Amino acid sequence: MADRIGRSSSQRWAGALAAIFALVGLAVAGPAQSVPATTCRTCGNHGVLDCSKHKKGWLEIERAVAFCSVAESCKSCLGALCLDCKQCTNESAEGEMQKRVQLVKSWRESLRTTIDAHSRGEPLLHVQTAHIDLGFAIPKIAVDKDKLDSHEGMHLYGDRIEALRALYLQTLELDEKDFSTRLRIYMCRDSKQANELGPRVTGLGGNFAVGTKLMGIDAVYCMWQEPRGLPDDEALHRNIVHNVVHLLTSNMDPAGYFGNPANGWVDEGLAHWFEDKIGGKCTNYCFEEVLTQQGQTFKGGRWRPAVRQMLDTGAVQSLAALAQKNTDQLTYPEHAQSFAMVDYLMVVYGGRQLRDFVRELKRKTPMRDAMQAVYGTTPLSFDTEFQAWVKANYSPLDSQR
Ligand SMILES: [Zn+2]
Ligand SMILES: [Zn+2]
Ligand SMILES: [Zn+2]
Ligand SMILES: [Zn+2]
Repeated sequence: MADRIGRSSSQRWAGALAAIFALVGLAVAGPAQSVPATTCRTCGNHGVLDCSKHKKGWLEIERAVAFCSVAESCKSCLGALCLDCKQCTNESAEGEMQKRVQLVKSWRESLRTTIDAHSRGEPLLHVQTAHIDLGFAIPKIAVDKDKLDSHEGMHLYGDRIEALRALYLQTLELDEKDFSTRLRIYMCRDSKQANELGPRVTGLGGNFAVGTKLMGIDAVYCMWQEPRGLPDDEALHRNIVHNVVHLLTSNMDPAGYFGNPANGWVDEGLAHWFEDKIGGKCTNYCFEEVLTQQGQTFKGGRWRPAVRQMLDTGAVQSLAALAQKNTDQLTYPEHAQSFAMVDYLMVVYGGRQLRDFVRELKRKTPMRDAMQAVYGTTPLSFDTEFQAWVKANYSPLDSQR
């Protein structure tokens, strides 16, 4: 851990030990040749100093990620975040620093050919965190009262996506060995950049309205902040949550996309469930004809009252009927019902059973058999139980949170 001025605890310890050794050195005067008799006042015998060219508090933020292209562009430290102390010599610290500079350099170089070469104009910024490679070019973001620039926005989204991944693992009781790949996410400046880079990173062709993703063994999402559908940071965040959940669900062992054929209700329902949990409503849909749907929402994205009203007017479908549909065939009300069915399974039975159910479906077990194996029920009984639960738990009136 680093303190506010970015000095690491190991640096503080080194300083403290050096001070102790200096005292001992005085006391035993002479034989302790290997211990420096004097402390370097500049660096406390650490051999390196914090780079002073980063904004207040930012050494800590940069040290919390593996690599950042903005840190790499620092002309003083080249991304090492520290500088050699000219007042003393410490070969091991200097060697570590040089190693770090080389590592940062080769990370940045490889992105120039794999990503930057395919996104004309100003290159994306990049950050690598524990589980995510994020390319970022969204110019500015307003979060509450703060106005963030691109660099700040990128670190915020890096943290948010890591937090979402951690929540997903915790909710569905999964661990690292259930995932075989890193998440690669590109949040582009505009439609042009996204449509140029998207096919390169996903291998999928065609123009898209907001984003395109590659799911299964690979987990890649490339998008831009389409202003009508994603007018603010909250909408952008929900979009990322929805789509990253698709990536995680697909990559989760056994890796593979399972929303087509059928199973759309589980695939979309899960993505909506996390969208609601983190963003308080559901505003993202995976339609094929997504271009014509921009900026529209169903019941303001507040789906609990919507589903209760559907139930009261006899508009809720049977599971057997809904479970015929692929992800991209669901209508707005079917998206809402899918969310509610996943909400029911999550609240009443918990994440571990939902995980097992998803696993069965990914193994191509017929839905009816998967439901029997995991929940010990039939689609018909599910309908009765689900509808009774909605009646007891969802109000037809929207009580805004
Ligand atoms: Zn020094
Ligand atoms: Zn950075
Ligand atoms: Zn620097
Ligand atoms: Zn979706």
